[in-house]
Amino acid sequence: MKPREFTGKCAICGKEMKGPQYGEGEFHDVCCKCFEIRFWDLIKQQVARGETYIINGSAYTRGHRGGFGNRTLRIKMLATGEVKTFEGTLWSNGQVPEDRLEQFPDNAEWYYEDETRKVWNTTERPY
Ligand SMILES: [Zn+2]
Repeated sequence: MKPREFTGKCAICGKEMKGPQYGEGEFHDVCCKCFEIRFWDLIKQQVARGETYIINGSAYTRGHRGGFGNRTLRIKMLATGEVKTFEGTLWSNGQVPEDRLEQFPDNAEWYYEDETRKVWNTTERPY
């Protein structure tokens, strides 16, 4: 990754910064106070690209193996009914902050092939 431009100021709040706070990646030009703002802005872009799923107000993204202890998890897209399977490749991004919930409506739900195996209620997570 080529080094990104750094102006010496937080790109969000304008606070003076001694240098990039979080390496050369997506967070290089924000201060620690604005980290969460950038984080959820990036999650929003991932949701728009169909890479991140919102289930019961929490965000989940496909990644490398090892997510949720390598558990196989299935989700069903609310708009299309498409079922996606993640063999240890689903990761949690955490709960959407309350003040951003309106921007992150649920777009998926947990999916169970066998409803009798569904031991969690709709507000809980299957892990
Ligand atoms: Zn800032």
